[in-house]
Amino acid sequence: MNRRAILYLFFVAQVFGQEIPQFNEERAFKYLEAQCDLGPRVPGTVGHRKGLRHILETVSTFADTVLQQSFSHSDAYTGKLYKLTNVLARFRPAEKRRIWIAAHWDTRPWADMDRDPKNRSKPVLGANDGASGVAVLMELAHHLAKTAPPIGVDLVFIDGEDMGRSGELTRFFNGSRYLARNIPSPPPEYCILIDMVGDSDLQLPVEGNSKNQAPDLVEQLWGEAEQLGLEPFSRETAYYVEDDHVVLYEVGGIPSVDIIDFNYSNDGNNYWHTVEDTPDKCSPESLDIVGTLLLHHIYGRK
Ligand SMILES: [Zn+2]
Repeated sequence: MNRRAILYLFFVAQVFGQEIPQFNEERAFKYLEAQCDLGPRVPGTVGHRKGLRHILETVSTFADTVLQQSFSHSDAYTGKLYKLTNVLARFRPAEKRRIWIAAHWDTRPWADMDRDPKNRSKPVLGANDGASGVAVLMELAHHLAKTAPPIGVDLVFIDGEDMGRSGELTRFFNGSRYLARNIPSPPPEYCILIDMVGDSDLQLPVEGNSKNQAPDLVEQLWGEAEQLGLEPFSRETAYYVEDDHVVLYEVGGIPSVDIIDFNYSNDGNNYWHTVEDTPDKCSPESLDIVGTLLLHHIYGRK
């Protein structure tokens, strides 16, 4: 190919190719730490109210529209009524071709998987299980505000995910259940859920329910990760996880995929649902891997 042809191709790429913004992993990690600084974001607590305010203050400076979806939830364990709130930060809100990028923002009331029985009634700080997904969403908001995406995007902050006792699935996913029954217009083509993406030893195999619910989307996302050389992603189906994506699909009919590292960590310790789910177990690089994939996916959309 001669020099002129190369220059021409370069020109075409500049004109027609959408420039992909660069994910800022340090800023994203600061968002993870900022949430943890508020304490556990357990429904009914001061930390929960602060967590909601933090989300609203952050996204309102970036999004075209911010939608708050508040509802009362009657808790079977305490008999109390809790106010739960999903937040949708909408970019290009009138665009009918749109997608959701979602994460839960609440944290678990009890560290019931902690190895020390004395800790099992304490709340979980949720650096990974809660704050990591929200941190990626907040960092995406910067870019979506600066560079209009080719499609509409809603960043969806889901409340009340982690309120169930182990094995009692109907008590979990309260925010996504409400959202699935009250989908704001225009609805999304699909949802990409991110959960537990901060683990400093990140491994992202395919989650089995995602593959059953949205095989084409799984193929596309893991294919994009491969093209980008994002090594933590692997094509093996390692586990099936019940998460908000199952509810969004089964109740709301939204094809939904969960990007989740369910082994936290991989060194024989378990930090999931323990008091040890703290920022030092997470890393900026892990947030960057997932954020980079999402930016390429969004800005690569035709
Ligand atoms: Zn959890």
